[in-house]
Amino acid sequence: MMTLKTELTLPAAGLSGFEPPLAEEEAAIQAGVHRFAREVLRPLGAELDRMTAAAVIAPGSPYYGVFAEFAKLGLDPFALAELPPDMAVRIESLIGEELGWGDSGLAVSLVVAGFPVQMASIVGSQELVDLCTGKIGCWMITQPDKGSDVQVFDMAREWAPGQQGNKGNVWGRIQGDEIVINGQCSAWVSNGAVAQVALGYISAEYDGSFFEKDGRPHGMSVIIPLDFPGVSKGKPLDKLGQRALPQGEIYFDNVRVPKRFAVALRHEYYGNMASAWSFAGTHMSQVFTGVARAGFEHALKYCHERKQGGTRLIDHQLTRHRLGDMLRRVELCRSVARRSLAYARQSPATHPYVTAAAKVTVTQEAMKVVDEALQLFGGVGTSREYPIEKLYRDARLALIEDGENYVLTMRLGLLAQQLYAEGWAQD
Ligand SMILES: Cc1cc2nc3c(=O)[nH]c(=O)nc-3n(C[C@H](O)[C@H](O)[C@H](O)COP(=O)(O)OP(=O)(O)OC[C@H]3O[C@@H](n4cnc5c(N)ncnc54)[C@H](O)[C@@H]3O)c2cc1C
Repeated sequence: MMTLKTELTLPAAGLSGFEPPLAEEEAAIQAGVHRFAREVLRPLGAELDRMTAAAVIAPGSPYYGVFAEFAKLGLDPFALAELPPDMAVRIESLIGEELGWGDSGLAVSLVVAGFPVQMASIVGSQELVDLCTGKIGCWMITQPDKGSDVQVFDMAREWAPGQQGNKGNVWGRIQGDEIVINGQCSAWVSNGAVAQVALGYISAEYDGSFFEKDGRPHGMSVIIPLDFPGVSKGKPLDKLGQRALPQGEIYFDNVRVPKRFAVALRHEYYGNMASAWSFAGTHMSQVFTGVARAGFEHALKYCHERKQGGTRLIDHQLTRHRLGDMLRRVELCRSVARRSLAYARQSPATHPYVTAAAKVTVTQEAMKVVDEALQLFGGVGTSREYPIEKLYRDARLALIEDGENYVLTMRLGLLAQQLYAEGWAQD
């Protein structure tokens, strides 16, 4: 049914754009996280961006304060999960977007920090929950020789015939009641340089073999305390963007953890890994919606200040078109991010290639918005005195982070092939 208005007014627009009315509780959470993003994440992210990677993780670095400040918000993911499903999705989206609007590097760091405790809780191990609570966590899945290959599930369609899969550089072997871990993860593990506990997805040897019958590597998912003997860390990664997010290698030299620290062994591995990756992908989409919005808002403000052609930039039709195009893309990011989150949380059978596809759309749109924002700033956009160049660098990493975008898009095509073979889209 049409909604009838008797007067033409401006549309209702809030922090998250053209948002249908939020419940009181939702609006309060959004306002609280926005305050945190504005007062804590933005200034801290800008400060850490200018520090060396070593200084960011040094004892006494302002980086560590973010966890206590975030905890003050009292956002409990388990309490949120108890809310009606649509509301839980909306609130999770609102939170992720505000965090990304504040600083994407810190937004990723905060969520990854809680990854191990979330997994511990979902598998129902109080011992692991106690072990992970209050610690900085990381999600350790990629390795020096195994980047995009961690996403290979369908050996028949995706791998060279007759060849074994990519075993990577970290593996575990069960010995009695223990798992013995050796190798090293990639330098890109978010929080790797500061993490106290890892949710590790590593290759595994079962019955003397590292491979399933079709050549797919066996795996295990294990919670690994990073203060155990045999664990060491590499240098923190010095990188282009998201510099507030400490990344770095972790090495394992005959590290022994109790077998009960495994959260998925053998046949449960790929399902568990797919769930963790879907979780990561949905968060990426919310965060980079926030980045797109931040780029748009900076540009909108600047266009009201800068004069060229005898008037403010905003008064030119060309500028309005460019801003309109950016705003349209921000709304697109938000819609895609929310739909993928709802699918991941509510569908009985989800898949990480689906959530990853949303991450591709959102990060590519965010990149376009931030790029255009920089263009609207003109020469000053390239200066470190203005916030745009940092957003540009932050967004650029997201095209590779949590899966490289071309490969993820190729895998969405693979998914279409797999579904078609099962009868989908044939009517
Ligand atoms: C900011 C950031 C945060 C990250 N956080 C984490 C984290 O928390 N935990 C973690 O474990 N990892 C993390 N990563 C690692 C990230 O997941 C990988 O960088 C990503 O999956 C790509 O792997 P790669 O870098 O090894 O590139 P590669 O896989 O080596 O890809 C290199 C190039 O080869 C192409 N390519 C790859 N495979 C194929 C193929 N089959 N066919 C055709 N072309 C192909 C790609 O398109 C790409 O252009 C992070 C990375 C970044 C940048």
